[in-house]
Formats: sequence, C-alpha cells, structure tokens
Amino acid sequence: MSTGPVASAGHAQGCLVCGVELAYAQSAAPATCAVCGVEEPSAARCREGHYVCDACHSGTAKDVIERACRASIGRDPVALATALMRHPSVKMHGPEHHFLVPATLLAAWSNATADADRPGLLAEARRRSDSVVGGSCGFQGACGSGVGVGIFASLVTGATPRSGPSWGQSNRATARALQIIGDVGGPRCCKRTSWLALLSGIRFAREELGVALEGRGPRCEFHSRNDDCLERDCPFYPASADA
Ligand SMILES: [Zn+2]
Ligand SMILES: [Zn+2]
Repeated sequence: MSTGPVASAGHAQGCLVCGVELAYAQSAAPATCAVCGVEEPSAARCREGHYVCDACHSGTAKDVIERACRASIGRDPVALATALMRHPSVKMHGPEHHFLVPATLLAAWSNATADADRPGLLAEARRRSDSVVGGSCGFQGACGSGVGVGIFASLVTGATPRSGPSWGQSNRATARALQIIGDVGGPRCCKRTSWLALLSGIRFAREELGVALEGRGPRCEFHSRNDDCLERDCPFYPASADA
C-alpha cells in the first residue's frame, strides 16, 4: 500500500518513481530527472510523465542518495529520505542508511541556511559514513542512523576531535538519537531508526543551532517487506499512526 507518489521499492521494470510502464517517443525532448533534478533531452518517460536519468537508474544506493541530496530544494529531511527509501538500490536494511540520515539532514539544512558548500559537505558525510559498518546497532551498541546525526552535527558545527563546544554538541546529537532509538527497542529496522534519527536531528537543529527544518513521523509503507517489523510497537506502523 502506498501513501506517496512512489508505489513501492523494487520495480524490476518500468518507472523507478511509480512503477508504470515506460513509453518511448520518436525523438528526444527536454526532461527533468525526478530523482536528482538534472535536465537533459530524453525520449523515454513513463506514462505518468516521470523521467529518471541514467545515473539515477544505475547508480549505487549512496550515489543516488548523494545526487538527490545535492539537488533537493526542500527543508524536510524525513520526506526526502522516505522518497529515497523507495529507490530500488536502497535495500530494506543496510548501511546505506548510515549515509541517508546525514545526507538528507545536510540537504535540508543547506536549503534552510543557504550554505554554499553542499557538495563538499555531502562528499565528506559520505566518506565518514563509509566507516560505520552494517550491524553496528547490535554489535557496537551504536545504530549507524544515530551516528549519522552526529556526522551531520559535526559537519555543520565544524567539529574536530580538538574542538570545544562543537565537540560536545556533536556527541550530544548522537546520544539523543541513540537514546530514542534504544527506547523503542529492537530488532533492527533501518526505516524506523532512520526516521527516529531524523526527527531527533530536526530537534537538535532547532534547539542547538537555531535552524528550523521541517518533518514529521511518516506512516510506514515498508512494513510488509520487514519480517521483523514491531508492528503496533513501532511508532510509524500505520495502525499506530492512525490512532
Ligand atoms: Zn512514473
Ligand atoms: Zn537523476
């Protein structure tokens, strides 16, 4: 069941955005990629009019996340992350979520503050997230989505290991996200933890940085793909969200 513009992840064929069949025109016309916003001529489009560029069609999950976050114009990291979760390269669970969290927070923060160096920040967030391995939630007691909030906080405050206040802010940002993630409990779900981390990051940005981002908890559209779903014990399970 879908509640957004994208039907579901994992379209083996057809449009990556909505799943419907692609149609081909006789000649190319200007088109805008629905994932990353690049404009280029193309003869391919789905019957709903969506175009997805070749790089967004065939890239790795982190490539697609980085491209979309460079182009995003919104201030809502939850909506952006949820749209990216629908891309077939982003698996139900996996370490790409460790980049998804700081990348979407950085995109929203850049749009809210008009920061000019978004490509550099995204590239650095990606580099830092590469060392946060899959399974760190259970094996190290530090969910990578929660650590992603710390990566975001460190980048926007300019923290380094020798910093003063920003060092503290960055560690508190991770701690606050992990507290909420831990309170809800396991087993792991990379959708649930990413949303909890993002909501915590939005609060951090408002309270510690004075930057207003948007975003609220979504109704989960991925639960049927997760054998370990907490269902009614998850704050994003549709029945809980309706209550
Ligand atoms: Zn489509
Ligand atoms: Zn694209």
